[in-house]
Amino acid sequence: MVRWRLQVWVVVLMWMSAAGAFTQVLVQESASQPAETTLAEDLKLIEIRPGLWRHVSTFVLVSRPTPANGLLLMTETEALLIDTPWTEEQTEHLLDWIEKDRGLAIAGVVATHFHPDCMGGIGAVHRRGIPTYGLSLTAKLAREDGSEPPKELFPKSLELKVGTETLELFYPGPGHSHDNIVVWIEDHKVLFGGCLVKNATTNHIGYLGDAEVDRWAASVATMRARFPEARLIVPGHGQPGGWDLVDNTLALVAQQLEESH
Ligand SMILES: [Zn+2]
Repeated sequence: MVRWRLQVWVVVLMWMSAAGAFTQVLVQESASQPAETTLAEDLKLIEIRPGLWRHVSTFVLVSRPTPANGLLLMTETEALLIDTPWTEEQTEHLLDWIEKDRGLAIAGVVATHFHPDCMGGIGAVHRRGIPTYGLSLTAKLAREDGSEPPKELFPKSLELKVGTETLELFYPGPGHSHDNIVVWIEDHKVLFGGCLVKNATTNHIGYLGDAEVDRWAASVATMRARFPEARLIVPGHGQPGGWDLVDNTLALVAQQLEESH
Protein backbone atom coordinates (compact mmCIF):
# COMPACT_ATOMS: atom_id res chain seq x y z
CA MET A 1 0.00 0.00 0.00
CA VAL A 2 2.77 2.40 0.94
CA ARG A 3 4.56 1.49 -2.20
CA TRP A 4 1.44 2.13 -4.33
CA ARG A 5 0.94 5.56 -2.75
CA LEU A 6 4.54 6.44 -3.40
CA GLN A 7 4.10 5.54 -7.03
CA VAL A 8 1.04 7.77 -7.30
CA TRP A 9 2.98 10.67 -5.82
CA VAL A 10 5.82 10.16 -8.21
CA VAL A 11 3.38 10.26 -11.11
CA VAL A 12 1.65 13.38 -9.70
CA LEU A 13 4.99 15.13 -9.18
CA MET A 14 6.13 14.25 -12.68
CA TRP A 15 2.91 15.59 -14.11
CA MET A 16 3.22 18.79 -12.07
CA SER A 17 6.77 19.44 -13.19
CA ALA A 18 5.88 18.70 -16.79
CA ALA A 19 2.95 21.13 -16.56
CA GLY A 20 5.22 23.70 -14.91
CA ALA A 21 7.80 23.39 -17.64
CA PHE A 22 5.12 23.78 -20.30
CA THR A 23 3.79 26.96 -18.68
CA GLN A 24 7.30 28.35 -18.48
CA VAL A 25 7.95 27.80 -22.17
CA LEU A 26 4.72 29.57 -23.10
CA VAL A 27 5.59 32.54 -20.90
CA GLN A 28 9.09 32.71 -22.31
CA GLU A 29 7.85 32.72 -25.88
CA SER A 30 5.23 35.37 -25.39
CA ALA A 31 6.92 37.74 -22.95
CA SER A 32 10.64 37.39 -23.50
CA GLN A 33 13.00 39.92 -25.04
CA PRO A 34 13.53 39.44 -28.77
CA ALA A 35 16.33 36.98 -29.51
CA GLU A 36 19.66 38.61 -30.19
CA THR A 37 22.85 37.06 -31.58
CA THR A 38 26.21 38.78 -31.55
CA LEU A 39 28.36 37.65 -34.48
CA ALA A 40 31.22 40.10 -33.86
CA GLU A 41 31.86 43.17 -31.75
CA ASP A 42 30.52 45.30 -34.59
CA LEU A 43 27.81 42.97 -35.92
CA LYS A 44 24.64 41.64 -34.34
CA LEU A 45 21.30 40.15 -35.30
CA ILE A 46 18.00 40.99 -33.62
CA GLU A 47 14.90 38.91 -34.24
CA ILE A 48 11.88 40.91 -35.43
CA ARG A 49 9.53 37.97 -36.01
CA PRO A 50 10.17 34.27 -36.58
CA GLY A 51 12.10 34.12 -39.86
CA LEU A 52 12.83 37.83 -40.02
CA TRP A 53 15.86 39.43 -38.38
CA ARG A 54 17.47 42.86 -38.42
CA HIS A 55 21.22 42.94 -38.84
CA VAL A 56 23.03 45.84 -37.24
CA SER A 57 26.62 46.58 -38.21
CA THR A 58 28.70 49.41 -36.81
CA PHE A 59 31.39 51.37 -38.59
CA VAL A 60 33.41 54.32 -37.36
CA LEU A 61 32.42 57.15 -39.67
CA VAL A 62 34.24 60.47 -39.17
CA SER A 63 35.32 59.29 -35.68
CA ARG A 64 31.73 58.39 -34.72
CA PRO A 65 30.59 54.73 -34.46
CA THR A 66 27.57 54.53 -36.77
CA PRO A 67 25.24 51.52 -36.63
CA ALA A 68 23.31 50.64 -39.79
CA ASN A 69 20.34 48.34 -40.30
CA GLY A 70 19.65 45.65 -42.84
CA LEU A 71 17.26 42.71 -42.86
CA LEU A 72 17.68 38.97 -43.08
CA LEU A 73 14.69 36.95 -44.24
CA MET A 74 14.93 33.21 -43.65
CA THR A 75 12.50 30.63 -44.98
CA GLU A 76 12.86 26.89 -44.42
CA THR A 77 15.27 26.49 -47.30
CA GLU A 78 16.54 29.89 -48.36
CA ALA A 79 17.62 33.26 -47.06
CA LEU A 80 17.59 36.75 -48.53
CA LEU A 81 19.63 39.66 -47.30
CA ILE A 82 18.47 43.23 -47.62
CA ASP A 83 21.62 45.36 -47.60
CA THR A 84 25.04 44.13 -46.60
CA PRO A 85 26.79 45.27 -43.44
CA TRP A 86 29.27 48.16 -43.89
CA THR A 87 32.36 46.05 -44.65
CA GLU A 88 33.30 42.89 -46.53
CA GLU A 89 34.64 41.36 -43.31
CA GLN A 90 31.31 41.87 -41.51
CA THR A 91 29.51 40.53 -44.58
CA GLU A 92 31.67 37.37 -44.64
CA HIS A 93 30.70 36.79 -40.99
CA LEU A 94 27.02 37.17 -41.73
CA LEU A 95 27.10 35.01 -44.89
CA ASP A 96 28.98 32.30 -42.93
CA TRP A 97 26.39 32.36 -40.16
CA ILE A 98 23.51 32.00 -42.63
CA GLU A 99 25.16 29.24 -44.66
CA LYS A 100 26.94 27.25 -41.94
CA ASP A 101 25.00 27.88 -38.73
CA ARG A 102 21.54 28.00 -40.25
CA GLY A 103 22.31 25.72 -43.21
CA LEU A 104 20.49 27.97 -45.67
CA ALA A 105 21.28 28.80 -49.28
CA ILE A 106 21.40 32.55 -49.88
CA ALA A 107 19.02 33.37 -52.71
CA GLY A 108 20.19 36.94 -53.10
CA VAL A 109 21.26 40.23 -51.63
CA VAL A 110 19.40 43.49 -52.25
CA ALA A 111 21.19 46.87 -52.23
CA THR A 112 18.78 49.67 -51.28
CA HIS A 113 21.08 52.49 -52.41
CA PHE A 114 24.69 52.95 -53.50
CA HIS A 115 26.24 54.08 -50.20
CA PRO A 116 28.55 51.78 -48.18
CA ASP A 117 26.05 51.34 -45.31
CA CYS A 118 23.92 49.38 -47.82
CA MET A 119 26.42 47.64 -50.07
CA GLY A 120 29.88 48.05 -48.59
CA GLY A 121 30.16 44.25 -48.43
CA ILE A 122 28.98 43.50 -51.97
CA GLY A 123 32.43 42.23 -53.02
CA ALA A 124 32.16 39.38 -50.50
CA VAL A 125 28.71 38.52 -51.87
CA HIS A 126 29.93 38.41 -55.47
CA ARG A 127 32.90 36.22 -54.52
CA ARG A 128 30.40 33.56 -53.38
CA GLY A 129 28.45 33.83 -56.62
CA ILE A 130 25.32 35.07 -54.85
CA PRO A 131 23.01 37.24 -57.04
CA THR A 132 22.76 40.92 -56.09
CA TYR A 133 19.73 43.08 -56.87
CA GLY A 134 19.53 46.82 -57.25
CA LEU A 135 18.10 49.70 -59.18
CA SER A 136 19.79 50.44 -62.55
CA LEU A 137 20.47 53.89 -61.13
CA THR A 138 22.18 52.35 -58.07
CA ALA A 139 24.54 50.43 -60.35
CA LYS A 140 25.33 53.60 -62.30
CA LEU A 141 25.99 55.67 -59.17
CA ALA A 142 28.08 52.90 -57.62
CA ARG A 143 30.24 52.68 -60.74
CA GLU A 144 30.73 56.47 -60.78
CA ASP A 145 31.66 56.24 -57.10
CA GLY A 146 34.27 53.56 -57.81
CA SER A 147 32.37 50.79 -55.99
CA GLU A 148 31.24 47.38 -57.19
CA PRO A 149 27.65 47.63 -58.52
CA PRO A 150 24.82 45.12 -58.00
CA LYS A 151 24.33 42.79 -60.98
CA GLU A 152 20.60 42.05 -61.36
CA LEU A 153 19.13 45.42 -62.26
CA PHE A 154 15.62 46.83 -62.57
CA PRO A 155 14.37 50.33 -63.48
CA LYS A 156 11.63 50.89 -60.85
CA SER A 157 10.22 47.83 -59.12
CA LEU A 158 10.85 44.12 -58.90
CA GLU A 159 8.98 41.23 -57.29
CA LEU A 160 11.17 38.60 -55.68
CA LYS A 161 10.12 35.15 -54.45
CA VAL A 162 12.11 33.62 -51.64
CA GLY A 163 10.76 30.21 -50.61
CA THR A 164 7.12 30.92 -49.85
CA GLU A 165 7.66 34.66 -49.34
CA THR A 166 7.03 37.47 -51.81
CA LEU A 167 8.91 40.73 -51.66
CA GLU A 168 8.58 43.91 -53.63
CA LEU A 169 11.59 46.12 -54.26
CA PHE A 170 10.21 49.56 -55.04
CA TYR A 171 11.64 52.94 -56.01
CA PRO A 172 9.38 55.68 -54.61
CA GLY A 173 11.58 58.53 -55.87
CA PRO A 174 14.66 60.30 -54.49
CA GLY A 175 15.20 61.54 -50.94
CA HIS A 176 18.24 60.60 -48.87
CA SER A 177 19.87 59.65 -52.17
CA HIS A 178 18.84 59.74 -55.84
CA ASP A 179 18.38 55.96 -55.85
CA ASN A 180 16.93 54.94 -52.45
CA ILE A 181 14.51 52.00 -52.73
CA VAL A 182 12.24 50.43 -50.10
CA VAL A 183 11.42 46.74 -49.64
CA TRP A 184 7.98 45.36 -48.81
CA ILE A 185 7.82 41.96 -47.14
CA GLU A 186 4.22 41.01 -47.71
CA ASP A 187 3.71 38.08 -45.27
CA HIS A 188 5.34 39.91 -42.37
CA LYS A 189 3.75 43.28 -43.24
CA VAL A 190 7.19 44.77 -42.70
CA LEU A 191 8.47 47.68 -44.76
CA PHE A 192 12.20 48.28 -44.99
CA GLY A 193 12.37 52.02 -45.53
CA GLY A 194 16.17 52.16 -45.56
CA CYS A 195 17.71 55.60 -45.47
CA LEU A 196 14.61 57.23 -47.00
CA VAL A 197 13.13 56.84 -43.49
CA LYS A 198 14.67 58.26 -40.32
CA ASN A 199 14.07 56.65 -36.93
CA ALA A 200 11.50 58.19 -34.58
CA THR A 201 13.91 59.82 -32.14
CA THR A 202 16.73 61.28 -34.21
CA ASN A 203 16.88 65.01 -34.82
CA HIS A 204 19.55 64.70 -37.52
CA ILE A 205 18.56 64.38 -41.14
CA GLY A 206 21.92 62.72 -41.79
CA TYR A 207 24.27 62.86 -44.74
CA LEU A 208 22.87 65.05 -47.51
CA GLY A 209 25.71 64.83 -50.05
CA ASP A 210 23.54 62.85 -52.49
CA ALA A 211 20.13 63.92 -51.21
CA GLU A 212 17.22 65.54 -53.05
CA VAL A 213 15.59 67.22 -50.08
CA ASP A 214 12.95 69.04 -52.13
CA ARG A 215 11.61 65.74 -53.52
CA TRP A 216 11.98 63.67 -50.33
CA ALA A 217 8.47 64.29 -48.94
CA ALA A 218 6.81 63.32 -52.24
CA SER A 219 8.79 60.07 -52.31
CA VAL A 220 7.74 59.27 -48.75
CA ALA A 221 4.10 59.94 -49.71
CA THR A 222 4.44 57.57 -52.68
CA MET A 223 5.84 54.90 -50.35
CA ARG A 224 3.02 55.39 -47.84
CA ALA A 225 0.35 55.19 -50.54
CA ARG A 226 1.78 51.95 -51.92
CA PHE A 227 2.27 50.10 -48.62
CA PRO A 228 -0.44 51.39 -46.28
CA GLU A 229 -0.70 48.00 -44.54
CA ALA A 230 2.82 48.17 -43.11
CA ARG A 231 2.82 47.25 -39.43
CA LEU A 232 6.51 47.75 -38.82
CA ILE A 233 8.86 50.13 -40.60
CA VAL A 234 12.60 49.59 -40.45
CA PRO A 235 14.74 52.69 -40.98
CA GLY A 236 18.31 52.73 -42.30
CA HIS A 237 19.64 53.57 -38.84
CA GLY A 238 18.13 53.14 -35.37
CA GLN A 239 15.02 51.51 -33.96
CA PRO A 240 12.18 50.20 -36.13
CA GLY A 241 8.64 51.39 -35.34
CA GLY A 242 5.36 52.52 -36.81
CA TRP A 243 4.31 55.44 -39.00
CA ASP A 244 5.74 57.85 -36.42
CA LEU A 245 9.07 57.24 -38.15
CA VAL A 246 7.61 58.70 -41.31
CA ASP A 247 6.21 61.67 -39.37
CA ASN A 248 9.64 62.39 -37.93
CA THR A 249 11.25 62.02 -41.36
CA LEU A 250 8.82 64.55 -42.86
CA ALA A 251 9.40 66.96 -39.97
CA LEU A 252 13.18 66.78 -40.43
CA VAL A 253 12.83 67.26 -44.18
CA ALA A 254 10.56 70.31 -43.67
CA GLN A 255 13.02 71.77 -41.17
CA GLN A 256 15.90 71.25 -43.58
CA LEU A 257 14.00 72.94 -46.43
CA GLU A 258 13.20 75.89 -44.19
CA GLU A 259 16.82 76.28 -43.13
CA SER A 260 18.11 76.13 -46.67
CA HIS A 261 15.69 78.70 -48.12
ZN1 LIG B 1 23.03 56.51 -47.59
